[in-house]
Amino acid sequence: MTPHLPAATTSSSRRLRVAVIGGSVTGPVTALLLLHAGLDVTIYEAAAATAPRGGGLIGLEHCALDVVDRLGIPQQEIVAFNSEAIVQSVIRDRRATQTVLRTYPGRNTTWTLLHKALTKRLPAGVLRTGMRVAGLVEHAGQPVLRFSDGNTETADLVVFADGRSSAGRQILDPDRGLHYAGYVAHRGLASCAPPEPHSGDFLRLDPCPGAQFNLAPVPDGCDWTFYLDCSPVEYHHCFGASPTRRVFALPHHVSSSARAHVDECAGRLLPPEHAELVRDTAVRMAVPVLDITPPSRMVWPIGSGHAVLLGDALAPVRPHTARGANNGIEQAAGLAIALTQHRRYGADLPAALRGWQRRHLPTVVAALRQGPAIGDRLGLGAG
Ligand SMILES: Cc1cc2nc3c(=O)[nH]c(=O)nc-3n(C[C@H](O)[C@H](O)[C@H](O)COP(=O)(O)OP(=O)(O)OC[C@H]3O[C@@H](n4cnc5c(N)ncnc54)[C@H](O)[C@@H]3O)c2cc1C
Repeated sequence: MTPHLPAATTSSSRRLRVAVIGGSVTGPVTALLLLHAGLDVTIYEAAAATAPRGGGLIGLEHCALDVVDRLGIPQQEIVAFNSEAIVQSVIRDRRATQTVLRTYPGRNTTWTLLHKALTKRLPAGVLRTGMRVAGLVEHAGQPVLRFSDGNTETADLVVFADGRSSAGRQILDPDRGLHYAGYVAHRGLASCAPPEPHSGDFLRLDPCPGAQFNLAPVPDGCDWTFYLDCSPVEYHHCFGASPTRRVFALPHHVSSSARAHVDECAGRLLPPEHAELVRDTAVRMAVPVLDITPPSRMVWPIGSGHAVLLGDALAPVRPHTARGANNGIEQAAGLAIALTQHRRYGADLPAALRGWQRRHLPTVVAALRQGPAIGDRLGLGAG
């Protein structure tokens, strides 16, 4: 990453003002890359600065790891365990019957480590918290954002990285709604090390059909995900709202009946040591698995400016694909390349954005197709 860029040679000499919506993973990666490219960037994040935030395991492939590396974040800052191994076992009668070893083309981080590493590198004033985008209009030929507190901000480019329930997607591409896939990723953060013998590796247990259990070490314990079928009515009962409304169930949303159900399934399906680990986990969350119609575009002209969707805002892919954060980071890197060509060499901006879209749409569409195929293979969501 070179912070010293040659002076712009063309009409693009005025610094583009970029508004990034969302300060989780995709948003801060985009902002740091665009700041390095010499653009004027502000991130608007709905959550308050004081809101407690944290998240679980995320596998990043080499391409995304390299983008993070080039932002000056050494891999050891975001990767606490160096293993590239995936130990995958078929479970029958609560015992592993066949085990295969795979090698993941990347390494595991956590949302918490990645978010911290990214946001601490943002220059002061770039991240504005407690700013929820409620609308986007064209005014005097420019995109103007409207916030829920009534404030407005003008930008040349609006980058929506505002996640699964994206306000940007609802404004720009309103026909692509979310559809519940019929199962839930129950998550837990246990305060003990994973059971031996594979304590440093990513462990995947398949007590198919209709369940899958993943486990990996994280700083201060281990992170598990237990995929289980759940009807929309059961979801509402367990987490207090419908799956397309409560797209993340935080610890305080997880009811005692949800907890008891997960413990019961673990006791019936998983090896005893893993069932015990689940039962002893205090901090629980849940994520409904959602599908969305594949996107056919990522870019919209707004007067003489543009708005784009990326990351989960563009398309939340199923978690089994392990592609959500990878997609967002790769799209951010591609956007930075397109905008650098515009800024440094006067490349036509609409054409550069179209080229970016053409390069990145197929990867998202492929992951959206792959998700239901994996779900079917595991017998998840069939009910
Ligand atoms: C169980 C599970 C396992 C996963 N494993 C992997 C994996 O191994 N590899 C992988 O690549 N991906 C994985 N993912 C997916 C990955 O976690 C997500 O794709 C990624 O976190 C999305 O990041 P994002 O920044 O695009 O969106 P989000 O993390 O959803 O962030 C959106 C941000 O926008 C803010 N926001 C929302 N609305 C507004 C608004 N109106 N105005 C302003 N701000 C707003 C939110 O507060 C939030 O901070 C997994 C997901 C799950 C559930």
